[in-house]
Amino acid sequence: MDLTHYVRNIPDFPKPGIIFRDITPLLGTAEALQFALDTLTEQFDGTAIDYVAAIEARGFLFGVTLADRLNAGFVPIRKPGKLPGPSYRQNYALEYGSDGLEIHQDAFGGSGQKRVLLIDDVLATGGTASAAATLLAKAGGKLAGYGFVIELLALEGREQLPKAPVFSLITYS
Ligand code: AMP
Repeated sequence: MDLTHYVRNIPDFPKPGIIFRDITPLLGTAEALQFALDTLTEQFDGTAIDYVAAIEARGFLFGVTLADRLNAGFVPIRKPGKLPGPSYRQNYALEYGSDGLEIHQDAFGGSGQKRVLLIDDVLATGGTASAAATLLAKAGGKLAGYGFVIELLALEGREQLPKAPVFSLITYS
């Protein structure tokens, strides 16, 4: 299945010059959503994973289901000020703007190094996923891999990421 048919390209959103890759058609089409989740699951089925961590908000849409399918726990990585417990914070640069991310300090239970799969919808410059990977390490997690729905190859975000296997469902040159 060619998943690019289920991604809508919206020019100049949220800023001039950005082509926003809108995955709502993919989410809204049962076969496409199943295919995306099946393919992500297959990719990481053979990897030992204790937790799936996903980035607010669109990463959550895939992360929880993937955690369930991989028999792993789920950990949210959220925008600043949303998590109620003691948290670590990391600031980062976006393709459009800058922001921060937070994780609960006790997200991985505190006993030994847990293997964590990091999930987000889009890998663009890599700033967001790098910040998330840094947070995972701060909280005692060991990065087992990255899964993205979309990767924008021209931005070379993959090169910025702390080393671990990267899998993207859809790539744009
Ligand atoms: P970056 O930190 O540059 O890798 O940007 C990745 C984050 O920004 C992801 O969480 C995406 O949700 C969002 N994002 C960046 N660029 C786009 C884009 N062209 N279309 C949709 N989302 C994007």
